[in-house]
Amino acid sequence: MTSQRTRDRLIDRLRDKNIQNESVLEVMRSTPRHIFVDEAMATRAYEDTALPIGLGQTISQPYIVARMTEALLDGGPLEKVLEIGTGSGYQTALLSRLVKRVYSVERIEALQQQARLRFQELGLRNIRLKHSDGNWGWDDYAPYDGIIVTAAPAKVPKPLFDQLKVGGRLVIPVGEQEGSQNLLVVTRTEEGFDSKTLDLVSFVPLLGGRG
Ligand code: SAH
Repeated sequence: MTSQRTRDRLIDRLRDKNIQNESVLEVMRSTPRHIFVDEAMATRAYEDTALPIGLGQTISQPYIVARMTEALLDGGPLEKVLEIGTGSGYQTALLSRLVKRVYSVERIEALQQQARLRFQELGLRNIRLKHSDGNWGWDDYAPYDGIIVTAAPAKVPKPLFDQLKVGGRLVIPVGEQEGSQNLLVVTRTEEGFDSKTLDLVSFVPLLGGRG
C-alpha cells in the first residue's frame, strides 16, 4: 500500500486535477508521505485525503498541498520560505527540496519534535524550526521570498505582510468559518499588496499562543 505504484497513482490523480508544475509533481512522487502519518494510517497515506496526525491536527490533502506549493512557486525560484504550521512536516519536507531554505513555525512542541526526527531520517538539512505562535511570523530571517500558512486565521496577521519581500508571495487560507475558507495568494508590490482567491478550502484554525 506504500509501494511506488501506489504513489505514482496519486501523482496521476494530481495531474488529472490539473496540477501542472513538474517539479512539484516530482518531489511529491519521490517523498514518502507514509512516514508523516501514524503507522495505523500508513496504508491510507497515498489517498488524496487529509488524515489525522494527533493532537486534533491533520496532515493536509495532497491536492491542496500541491496547489498551494504550485501557487507559491509560480513567480519563479525561491530562496527563503517561511511556513506557519509545521504539523507533520510533510509540506516542509516538500518545500525543502524545492527552495533554498525553509523556516517553519509550529505551536505544538510534540508535533515539531516528531517532524524534526522525520527530517533527520530523510537527510533534509535546509530546514529551521521554531516553537512559537506563527501569528508573529519569524522576524529573525525576514524578509521572505515566500510565506505559506497551513492553518486558517480569520484575517491575515499583520506581521506576515511585513515579513514578505517586495515581489514575494503569501499563500494563506483565510476565513472566520471553520471548514470553509478562501485560499488567498497575496503578492507584495512596490505600492502595496495584490490579493486573489484560488479556491475554497478547509483548514484547521490558526490558534493564538503556544500549545
Ligand atoms: N502542513 C501541515 C499542516 C498541519 S495542520 C501538514 O501537512 O502536516 C496545521 C498546523 O498548524 C497544526 O500542526 C497546528 O498545530 C498549527 N498551528 C495552528 N495555529 C498555529 C499558530 N498560531 N502558530 C503556529 N502553528 C499553528
